[in-house]
Amino acid sequence: MSKMECGDEERLQRCEPGEAARSAQVYPASERELGTNGLKIRRALPLAKRRLIGPFCFLDHFGPITLAPKDAGMDVAAHPHIGLQTVTWLIEGGVLHRDSLGYEQLIRPGQLNVMTAGRGISHSEETPEAFAGPLHGVQLWVALPDADRHTAPAFEHHAQVPCTQLDRLHVSLVTGSALGLRSPSTTFSEQVSMAIRVTDAGEHVLALAPHFEHGVIVVEGTFHTDEHEVAPGTLSYMSQGHDELRFHTRGPAQLFLVGGPPFEESILMFWNFVGRTRDEIVEAANQWNASDPRFGEVSAYPRGRLSSPPVGPIRPS
Ligand code: MN
Repeated sequence: MSKMECGDEERLQRCEPGEAARSAQVYPASERELGTNGLKIRRALPLAKRRLIGPFCFLDHFGPITLAPKDAGMDVAAHPHIGLQTVTWLIEGGVLHRDSLGYEQLIRPGQLNVMTAGRGISHSEETPEAFAGPLHGVQLWVALPDADRHTAPAFEHHAQVPCTQLDRLHVSLVTGSALGLRSPSTTFSEQVSMAIRVTDAGEHVLALAPHFEHGVIVVEGTFHTDEHEVAPGTLSYMSQGHDELRFHTRGPAQLFLVGGPPFEESILMFWNFVGRTRDEIVEAANQWNASDPRFGEVSAYPRGRLSSPPVGPIRPS
């Protein structure tokens, strides 16, 4: 996914770790449409009042939508990334990833794609025509710690991830570790991301690591806590100090949870880049626009490449 495709007003954003005090809050996600076929994106991170949760600096929920065979579907042309990992998880449909390392990988529900941008990579993402029909998923960006952010680019696909059934919760561990499970995906900092399928109505309890802060979105249905109702388009945030998420549902639902120790570094986000200084962001944008070999080429993608917008001044958080 590329921020450009979502009609963002492009700004250079400083993202600071959140407040330390124990709190639980809900925030409205920002909503927009991707392309012209009505594919809706709900962006739960970054928000004006919540930039990071653990190392997660971007959380998009796209769809659900039913694509007719003539619809273009998702079609994000070649674009670069630095300083982050992208994590793709589908609930329905299929998305084809192609990158400058030569990987070409279809992802289907229950599978996991993780791309480590490190010092520089480029990729494209599209819905293959054969997968017209329902499309529904999430994409996350994980900020790389300073010590690892210039690492070599890499891509990995996992045909399955660890799962467990806890009463009426079916949990798929996407990245990191929790509940005695460990994801096979490469990580560079302590974290968790998981998809939670609630199979029936009732009260549900999910154990949390109290040294993590957490965020939860609902991708299907609604859930209720003592304080809040959470529906698609809302981010529910819990600071460190919470050892469980207690909630109820009136029927089946699907949630997605992210968490980790508060990220200790202040990052800069611009377009598809995560950095620390404006100079390095400007350098990356110029190099991409000049087709510098730093980002390679997505040679298998036939419909061109996006251009980086000009880098403006740093906007305070
Ligand atoms: Mn991308």
